[in-house]
Amino acid sequence: MEKKLSILREKGYKITPQRRAVITALEEFGKFPTAQNILESVKKTQPDVSLDTIYRNLTLLAEVGIVHEIHRHTGNIYEIVTPGHHHHHLVCTECGRTECLDICPVNDAYVREAEKKGFQITGHTFEFYGICHDCNTGNKK
Ligand SMILES: [Zn+2]
Ligand SMILES: [Zn+2]
Ligand SMILES: [Zn+2]
Repeated sequence: MEKKLSILREKGYKITPQRRAVITALEEFGKFPTAQNILESVKKTQPDVSLDTIYRNLTLLAEVGIVHEIHRHTGNIYEIVTPGHHHHHLVCTECGRTECLDICPVNDAYVREAEKKGFQITGHTFEFYGICHDCNTGNKK
């Protein structure tokens, strides 16, 4: 928690009670809360907070690398970033189920091509979309 707050501070952002509450909610929720889930949790200590504010905070936390924002057609979900555990996600386009996948498709060829253009890569996001096992086999609950 304090480490996450210090990343914000280093980048010049204030540690507001809201930001602290959003990070706490993310840590408590564990895997893949939606903005709505975060809102409900933050509301316990900050009853006046709006969904817009939650989105703004989540976007900021994603920008500074504290949160992984996973794009899903039914609405984005979030995961707190574990330092040293870079990974990607499988997202089911039928039911929205999301799983972590410890493989990174980015290789040196991308970095070299970018360098040729004078571009320094500082990060990337990537999601795999498809049909999960249960949706594929008709095992839907
Ligand atoms: Zn599915
Ligand atoms: Zn993950
Ligand atoms: Zn990667």
